[in-house]
Amino acid sequence: MKKVVIVGAGVAGLSAAFNIQEKSKQNGQKVDYLLVEKDRHLGGKLITEKLEGFLIEGGPDCFVSEKPAVLQLSAQLGIKDRLLTSNEDNKGTFVLSGGKLHKLPEGLMLMVPTKILPFALSPLISWPGKLRMGLDLILPKKEGDFDETLAGFVNRRLGREALDKIAAPLIGGIHGGDPETMSLKASFPRFLQMEQNYGSMIRAMLAARAKMPPAQPSSAGKPKHTYFMTFINGMEELAQTLGKRLDRNKIMLGKQVTRIERRTGPEGNPAYTVHISGTDPVEADAVILAAPAPNAAELVENLDAGIAENLRGIPMGSSANISVAYRKEDIPFNLNTFGFVIPAIEQRKINAVTYTSTKWDFRIPDDKYVLLRTFVGGAKNQELASLDDRELMGLVRREFNGILGITAEPVLFKIHRWIKARPQYTMGHLDRMAAIESRLDQSLGLYIAGGSYRGIGVPDCITDGLKAAEKVMDYLHSGSG
Ligand SMILES: Cc1cc2nc3c(=O)[nH]c(=O)nc-3n(C[C@H](O)[C@H](O)[C@H](O)COP(=O)(O)OP(=O)(O)OC[C@H]3O[C@@H](n4cnc5c(N)ncnc54)[C@H](O)[C@@H]3O)c2cc1C
Repeated sequence: MKKVVIVGAGVAGLSAAFNIQEKSKQNGQKVDYLLVEKDRHLGGKLITEKLEGFLIEGGPDCFVSEKPAVLQLSAQLGIKDRLLTSNEDNKGTFVLSGGKLHKLPEGLMLMVPTKILPFALSPLISWPGKLRMGLDLILPKKEGDFDETLAGFVNRRLGREALDKIAAPLIGGIHGGDPETMSLKASFPRFLQMEQNYGSMIRAMLAARAKMPPAQPSSAGKPKHTYFMTFINGMEELAQTLGKRLDRNKIMLGKQVTRIERRTGPEGNPAYTVHISGTDPVEADAVILAAPAPNAAELVENLDAGIAENLRGIPMGSSANISVAYRKEDIPFNLNTFGFVIPAIEQRKINAVTYTSTKWDFRIPDDKYVLLRTFVGGAKNQELASLDDRELMGLVRREFNGILGITAEPVLFKIHRWIKARPQYTMGHLDRMAAIESRLDQSLGLYIAGGSYRGIGVPDCITDGLKAAEKVMDYLHSGSG
C-alpha cells in the first residue's frame, strides 16, 4: 500500500490526514498515512485551556464563517451542534483615538462606510478624513497588475486617516502584521477584485450589503451563523475531534521529523526516507509538509535548496496574547461590546482588547466574572512579546488602567507567546509561492500546506490541507508515485 508521511499536526496536517483517510475509504484505492507532530499536543496553534473554570484560547479564538471550510468540515465530522455563534446583541467594536474609545460607525464593512448618517455623525474620523474617504467614489481604479502594500492601497483609495484609524488596527491586526509591508494581493486579494469590479470600495461594499440576507429579528432567537464563530469548547475542539476520527496508530506525538531523504524507488518513482527523532526512519511514497515555513525550509534544504530559500524568505512575526479575568464588580463600566482596537498612532503597548466573556458564551465559570484578552507585539512592537511574565503582567495592567481605568487585581492571568510564529505575507509573497510551486511540480511526491503559504485563517489552512491530500491521492493513483 502507498504511504504518505504528513509533517505537523496543526489544523492543516490534521485536515490532510482526515481527507486521505476518507478518500481511501471511498474509492477503494487505499493509501496509508502517518501524521508526525513534534509537540505532545494535537492541533498546532489551536490551543484551548480550561483554567479554574475559564476557557482560555492560546491561539485563534474564532473563524470567519464566510469562508465555508470550517462549517463544511464540522458537518462532515458531525459536530455542527458544537458550533458557537457570537453574541450579536452586544456586537460592535470600538477604536481608541485621541485616548478615547469611539464606536466604529454602524454600517462600516471591513473598513468601508456603507451608511452615510452614522458615518457622518461619528467623531472617529475628522471631516477632512471623511471627505477623503468619499473620494473613493470618483478616484480611478488602478491600472496594471502590479502588487502594492495594504497601506498603499488603503491610502490610495480611502486616505491616511482611514488607514491609521481603521484599516491598520482592524485589518492589519488580523495578520499581526505591518500594513506598510503586507502584500495586498497575497493578504487581501478580495480588495483588489472589488476595486477592479466596481471601481470603488464603497460601491463594492454597497453591492455586497445589498446581497446579504436580511438580519433576523431578535425575537427569532440566536442566528445559526454569525460572521465570527467558534466551538462551544473553543477552537481546539475542532482539532480534538479530527484527532479522534483518525487512526490513533497513525499519529506520532512528541516526535520531530529531523531529515527527509529522496531516492529512486524500485519502479523508478521517487521514494522518501523520513527520519524521526527517537524512532526508526519511515519509508514513504509522498510527504506533505504541513509545518510552518522555517521548519519546512530545514527539511527541504537537502532536497531542493531553491524551495528552502524561498521558504526562508517568508518572514515570521512575534506576538503574545494575554487572557485576564476579573471579578465583575471590579470593572468600572459595562462590557457590552466585543472590545476595541488600538491604532499604532496612539503609541500604546497593547494592540487590541477582546471582551471575551461578552462576545462568547461558555467562557467564564459564572456571571460574577469577566474575561478579557489582549494582544502585545505584532508589527511595531515585536520585542514586547518576549518580555518575561512579570514584565508583561505589569505592562498589561498599566495599559488597562490607563485606557479602561481598571486598577483591580486580576483573578487569572494567562500568557501565550508566539515568537517568530506568525507568517507575514509581505510584498513578493506570491512570487515566492510561485517559485516554490513550480519547483514542487518537478519534485514529485512532495507537497506543502498550512498557514505560511496560501492563507493564514483556520478555514484557509483546512482548505490547503484538504487540497494537499487530494493532490497526493491523484499523484499516487496516477501511477507516477
Ligand atoms: C495568536 C494567534 C491568533 C490567531 N487568531 C486567528 C483567528 O482568530 N482566526 C483564524 O482563522 N486564524 C487565526 N490565527 C491563525 C491560525 O491559527 C493559523 O494560521 C493556523 O492555526 C495554522 O495552522 P497550520 O496547521 O498551518 O500550522 P500550525 O498550527 O503552526 O501547525 C504546524 C505544526 O507543525 C509542527 N511541526 C513543525 N515542524 C515539525 C517537524 N519537523 N516535525 C514534526 N512536527 C513539526 C508544529 O509543532 C505544529 O504543531 C491565529 C494565530 C495566532 C498565532
